[in-house]
This record gives sequence, C-alpha cells and structure tokens, in this order.
Amino acid sequence: MQISNNTAVSIHYTLTNEEGEVIDSSVGNDVLSYLHGTGSIIAGLEKVLDGKSVGDSFTAHIPASDAYGQIMEDRVQTISRDMFEGIDNIQVGMQFHADVSEGPGIVTVVAIDGENITIDGNHPLAGMPLNFDIEVIEVRPATEEEIEHGHIHGADGHHH
Ligand code: ZN
Repeated sequence: MQISNNTAVSIHYTLTNEEGEVIDSSVGNDVLSYLHGTGSIIAGLEKVLDGKSVGDSFTAHIPASDAYGQIMEDRVQTISRDMFEGIDNIQVGMQFHADVSEGPGIVTVVAIDGENITIDGNHPLAGMPLNFDIEVIEVRPATEEEIEHGHIHGADGHHH
C-alpha cells in the first residue's frame, strides 16, 4: 500500500548536512514510526514520502523552509541573569526549555556578559538544508483510535 493521509508509516532514515556529515540516523536503532498527514515530522519529509511504498529507498534534499525554517533574528534575545532562577552556573551552550513566541521550545545560551545572558531560540537545524536517505519499512492503515489521537500506537509508537 502507498503512503497517504492516515497511514501508519515506519521508515529508516539517515540525516546529513550539506557537508555530508551525519546528524542523525535510525539505522541500527528503532525505526521512526509516525502517522502520515499530521505534521508530526517536518513538512518536506512528509511531502516526499507521500505516495511511496514499502521497500522504496531514496534520497531527499529538503530546503530549510520545508525543514526547520530560516534563522529568525528576533529569536535571539538578551535577558537578565535573574530570569534563570535557581541556576547558579550558567554556561555558553547550555540548553533550557522555555516558552518562546512559537510555544514551548528549547533555547541555547550563546553568550554571557556579566548579568546579560544572550539566548537563541532557533532550532539547532534552522537555516540548514537537509539531506535524508530513506527506506520505507512498513505502511499500514492507521486504526480509528490512532487517527482520533493523532499519533500511532504499538511497539514503535505512543504508549499510554
Ligand atoms: Zn493515543
């Protein structure tokens, strides 16, 4: 069967950047399983997987706009050290969960100047075109319950 909205899809993928360095890979680990058509994976990946079948193996080049978006200058902010209540030893590179304009996200400390802490709320992969090597492992119709929940269940999916 072909991948379409409301199918449960399992893939193996290897993600590389423009320099060919591996950023992430499922190969040798669990497959990535998701409910197709729900935006639970990046838009560009969902687009290229649409219509594919089990056994299909291909490479996709996804521009930043269809991956984690462009780098937004306004997501880089300088805030007071007081905002980091209860954290004594703030260092460049530390990451925190925070409520940013788009909702909860992760911010990274990029600079420290006395009481001023500069944080970057851009996704670490923002602004980067991504290359995926993909193999489609399994495609099945999602159950009604999965469609209702907006995620898949079972060994590789969501546990309740
Ligand atoms: Zn559920």
